[in-house]
Amino acid sequence: MTDKTLFERIIAREIPATILYEDDRCIAFKDINPQAPFHALIVPIKPISRLGEAAPTDGALMGHLMLTAARVAREAGHGENFRLALNNGAGAGQTVFHLHIHVLAGRPFSWPPG
Ligand code: 5GP
Repeated sequence: MTDKTLFERIIAREIPATILYEDDRCIAFKDINPQAPFHALIVPIKPISRLGEAAPTDGALMGHLMLTAARVAREAGHGENFRLALNNGAGAGQTVFHLHIHVLAGRPFSWPPG
């Protein structure tokens, strides 16, 4: 029995993932169902369910996630062109309720997003 989020189970190495970066505040790993040639997820160790649930005291952590997204893109050779996406709530496409930033790169992106 567990009430861990899916991403907490990846952090705990209970579920395998291709990990790209990790520190004491966040982890980055490849998405299992990539929507671009490069698709990583940046996940805080702290299991905040969605951005709307983040507290004012989480501000530095949120900035760290953004900077880690840029770092992971850069280290994968996509520092010039990448897209970040963050789905907040089921109606916006969120399926895993542990806050995460998608980092997508390696193909053209249109605007507006779908
Ligand atoms: P969301 O839809 O919540 O914004 O994004 C969740 C993401 O998690 C999806 O892109 C989905 O492909 C990814 N995902 C779901 N299960 C797993 C898994 O077990 N491993 C990895 N690496 N990614 C997963």
